[in-house]
Amino acid sequence: MRNDDVARVLEDIGAALELKAESSFKVRAYQEAARQIGYMSHDVAELHRKGQLDDIPGVGPSISKKIAEYLDTGKIAYLETLIGEIPRGVFDFLKVPGIGPRTAHELFTELHVTTLPELAEAARQHRIREMPGLGEKTEENILRELGRLKERGTRLPLGVAWALADEIVAALREHPAVIAAEPAGSIRRRRETVGDIDLLVASKDPAAVERAIKALDRFKEIIAAGDTKISFLTRDAFQIDVRVVEPAAWGAALQHFTGSKAHNIKLRTRALERGLRINEYGLFRLADDKRIAGAHEAEIYSALGLDWMPPELREDTGEIEAAEAGTLPQLVALEDVRGDFHSHTTYSDGRATLDQMARAAMARGYEYLVVTDHSHGLAVAQGLTVEKARRQREEIDELNRALYPFHLLAGVELEIRADGALDFPDEVLRLFDVVSASLHTNTRKGSERNTQRILNALHNRQVHILNHPSGRIVPTRDAYAFDFDEIVEAARVGRKALEINGSERMDLDAAAARIAGQQGVTLSLGSDAHSVKGLDGMRMAVAIARRAWLEPRDVLNTRRLKALMKRLERAEARV
Ligand SMILES: [Zn+2]
Ligand SMILES: [Zn+2]
Repeated sequence: MRNDDVARVLEDIGAALELKAESSFKVRAYQEAARQIGYMSHDVAELHRKGQLDDIPGVGPSISKKIAEYLDTGKIAYLETLIGEIPRGVFDFLKVPGIGPRTAHELFTELHVTTLPELAEAARQHRIREMPGLGEKTEENILRELGRLKERGTRLPLGVAWALADEIVAALREHPAVIAAEPAGSIRRRRETVGDIDLLVASKDPAAVERAIKALDRFKEIIAAGDTKISFLTRDAFQIDVRVVEPAAWGAALQHFTGSKAHNIKLRTRALERGLRINEYGLFRLADDKRIAGAHEAEIYSALGLDWMPPELREDTGEIEAAEAGTLPQLVALEDVRGDFHSHTTYSDGRATLDQMARAAMARGYEYLVVTDHSHGLAVAQGLTVEKARRQREEIDELNRALYPFHLLAGVELEIRADGALDFPDEVLRLFDVVSASLHTNTRKGSERNTQRILNALHNRQVHILNHPSGRIVPTRDAYAFDFDEIVEAARVGRKALEINGSERMDLDAAAARIAGQQGVTLSLGSDAHSVKGLDGMRMAVAIARRAWLEPRDVLNTRRLKALMKRLERAEARV
């Protein structure tokens, strides 16, 4: 069981208590414990084994007992009782952006609505605007968000599905009957949201695979089990579909179940043109039904006259033509990344200290880390004042002496204010090695206004990077209105980088990043880490970059420190 799971169940208790209008002190205690465990780098199960749960900051004896119960039994009786008193559907209200537990509780007790459809009905009947403190705007918001929630359905953000699939695949690989195991489908293609979690296992003994599944930590129950497909539910209610194939068909199955559908349709046509038939069992000659390929993906593509293509490209957006011509891109990979361009510390809203973040980046094998704490204009982040920035710079210099040859770059996530002005004047911006600008607030005043604010930043000679250019968050927030083409053009002309943000923002998205790359704009990859663990976001950023067909030279992070410093300097020398 992972820290995330424990954090989630503590959050559930906090939410349940809040829904019941319990004392806010109690609620906060659970929320704080959840936060601590979510950000903690120690393994909570390990601490439990050593009897050290009480040592976690913010975890008192009563909460530590519940964590122990959860680690031992997989559930918490207290939570089950709490939930028992509240209709299950009321918890779904919390999935609606803008509805917190307090509002959910009021909607339930005042309007007696207990499901999302009932909530939508109440909004349409304008019963919500009559409640004290809610009003017309909230009601409209709720209706709009409910519509979007329905549209999104049950798709999971890639980050969640990917981590889960990795964990299960790693566990299955341990089993002697499992010859190979991989996530397939949209997880393998790294689509930004994932519908079904499809895993593929090569084995000669499907019954043993089923036993291996039942022995998984997360296993809850089998939904359906046939000869070749086993569907099961995890304890946290994700459905996982596992297909078991014979080793001789492994490559064919992997190819087939990775998709995309459009990519596979093109392959099928191509096979037919060559007197072949392709399916999940292999590539067969039509004439005598002999299988000519199946064990490896590469031999299937090769038999069709194509280079093997990375799964991230398989969307039928030109990859088949490029594979035929031998002009596939050499995609950037995680190993090419020499540093992270977006990170936060306790100097603004990050959880880890400068020192902790630096050492964590070093442990990842990075050459450098760009520390980009918020500038003070983003009030909620309690960011850098000029004075604080100077202090941070001193600490960075000191750490750089201690950690040489690893290098921290002093950066800033610079707020673009509502009127388009930048949060610091030029002479302050010169103090930083890297200036990345961001639009966080007041983004609802239309495309022209947003575009102008961004252009103001891109036209400033001190600015190197535009962060999370579209402002979206997957899956809860859409991009703000802005003129993307104009931003790309300004970035190209001014030699500014556009960010691919690897947090739940996933911004730019792959399609936009591909356009930017085609226009000759350099992309910078940033995890936007607000904790040591947040640095993991880099693999998401790389995944998006790969779906955008980007090569190492298109990406700022592949530069060695020396070349990078030169490029950053040059941007300044253009004054
Ligand atoms: Zn932040
Ligand atoms: Zn930001």
